[in-house]
Amino acid sequence: MADKTIRLPENVPGSWYVDDTCTPCHVCLDEAGPQTDFPVLRYNDDESKVLFFKQPESPEEIDAAQRALEICPTNAIGSDGD
Ligand code: SF4
Repeated sequence: MADKTIRLPENVPGSWYVDDTCTPCHVCLDEAGPQTDFPVLRYNDDESKVLFFKQPESPEEIDAAQRALEICPTNAIGSDGD
């Protein structure tokens, strides 16, 4: 389970976030990254972490974000943010 108390500040405001335990292994980008049909995740500027640049809104975006959450090996993706 991701921890919203260590949410990366670069995430766009909203309930979905990546926390500081992102390695970044990049596997989530295969589900919801810039090259996918419903992108909501991308690297930060120095590619040291992944972040939500857009909150998932459509059912397809939410499905993509949920797949990313489930595949993340460090459980760095959460949907319980404020
Ligand atoms: S899958 Fe998890 S650890 Fe890997 S890049 Fe994405 S958020 Fe970071």
